Amino acid sequence: MKIAVVGGGFTGLACALSLVESGVEVILYEEENTLGGLAGGVVEKDWKWSLEYFYHHAFTNDKEVIDLAKKVGVKPLIKKPITTGFINKKELQLDSPISVLKFSELSIVGRLRMGAGLALLKLIPNGLFLEKYRVAELLPRIIGKEGYVVIWEKLLKAKFGPFANKVNMAWFWARVAKRTKNLVYFEGGFQNLANKTGEKITGMGGKIFLRKPVEKINKQENGKWIIGKEEFDGVLVTTPAPVMEKLLGKKIEFPDLDYLWGQTVILQLKERVIPSYWMNILENNWPFLVLVEHTNLIDKKYYGNNRIVYLGNYLPEGHKQLKMSKEALVSAYLPYLRKINKHFKKAWIKNVLVFRKPFAQPVFPVNYSKEISKIKSPVRGLYLANMSMVYPFDRGTNYAVKMGVAVAVGILRDLK
Ligand SMILES: Cc1cc2nc3c(=O)[nH]c(=O)nc-3n(C[C@H](O)[C@H](O)[C@H](O)COP(=O)(O)OP(=O)(O)OC[C@H]3O[C@@H](n4cnc5c(N)ncnc54)[C@H](O)[C@@H]3O)c2cc1C
Repeated sequence: MKIAVVGGGFTGLACALSLVESGVEVILYEEENTLGGLAGGVVEKDWKWSLEYFYHHAFTNDKEVIDLAKKVGVKPLIKKPITTGFINKKELQLDSPISVLKFSELSIVGRLRMGAGLALLKLIPNGLFLEKYRVAELLPRIIGKEGYVVIWEKLLKAKFGPFANKVNMAWFWARVAKRTKNLVYFEGGFQNLANKTGEKITGMGGKIFLRKPVEKINKQENGKWIIGKEEFDGVLVTTPAPVMEKLLGKKIEFPDLDYLWGQTVILQLKERVIPSYWMNILENNWPFLVLVEHTNLIDKKYYGNNRIVYLGNYLPEGHKQLKMSKEALVSAYLPYLRKINKHFKKAWIKNVLVFRKPFAQPVFPVNYSKEISKIKSPVRGLYLANMSMVYPFDRGTNYAVKMGVAVAVGILRDLK
């Protein structure tokens, strides 16, 4: 049996690895010059480890991606970072029941109500039934209006912009239920994990073609699939749905989801900006929604002794920031960086990197589970798997790996 995998992100990599382990002939096509997809990264001069284009960590309960790392010889590192919120010129810890109870921007009643509501959500074993409600209507009733307005409404609006009112409550439940206090990072970075997985695939006889965008996937009369000059028994496509349609040359049965772009401005700095790893911005109308000081999670010695700070955003198609130069972005962000740390100086900045990718965050509307596409398409031998299909869980490398392995099991069952 010979299978094509389109896309070298973690879904494609996990599927390809499972298939080669079962003796299947596999060719993986990736249009970029590296593997890893959205979880990939860069290595700058003098750096020992790669850094993700978009801040990445795993949770300690992300079993699938941790198992993959162990299998390919990449060490998972457990970290105990601090998460905070920036509100009314203060950075306040916000990552545990105790920190909620100490959160001075809420009244005592507001803190207790929010703490109880979040604890309740965490206790629900499967929150899919909540998908009939929108976060904006149900969350204030669960955690109290005060906590909703002071914290979560701002986060929702900052993350989903014009789509904030659409997002369903099962998505929110999954975010709360899945979170662990300790986080996991992979030695060498997520790019290292992708590379080592790729090496394992090729070491077992699989082929990986980088810089090889698939432009067309054709089905022959004899039921075989053609990509370029190669013939396959089956194809897995892991790109976002609009790209799948282009490759297959026809409309596929996929819900018409809204997506946001991901954008990060990465500052390589001489000085530390904040003491914590992750700081949500709980202010209205800031130009970025999160500040992630990666070198408060991972030692700066791996990045040429630079401090690494991400300023992250999710942006709708056509947003003005998507067209701004890195100089213009830094100028727009500088006054806000000074609000966070009054000593912040432009002279601290040694280098700036900007990354943008479309289809970075799907927006899940109410009752999405009724529309979600099947991994196994109605056409024999064609499989579709992308991050809009791990719902109600949010995108994540763990779910990409889990889905990739599940597709491999399906392919073996259907086609062998
Ligand atoms: C801002 C941000 C933060 C995130 N944070 C985390 C985190 O902390 N932890 C976590 O686990 N996950 C995180 N994620 C999510 C995680 O990166 C994704 O869920 C995961 O990488 C998706 O993997 P995938 O293989 O399904 O898709 P992708 O990574 O999108 O892979 C698809 C691949 O297909 C390739 N491709 C597309 N078209 C073609 C074509 N025509 N021919 C060949 N190849 C093609 C692409 O180049 C890409 O490599 C984050 C994502 C973003 C955007």
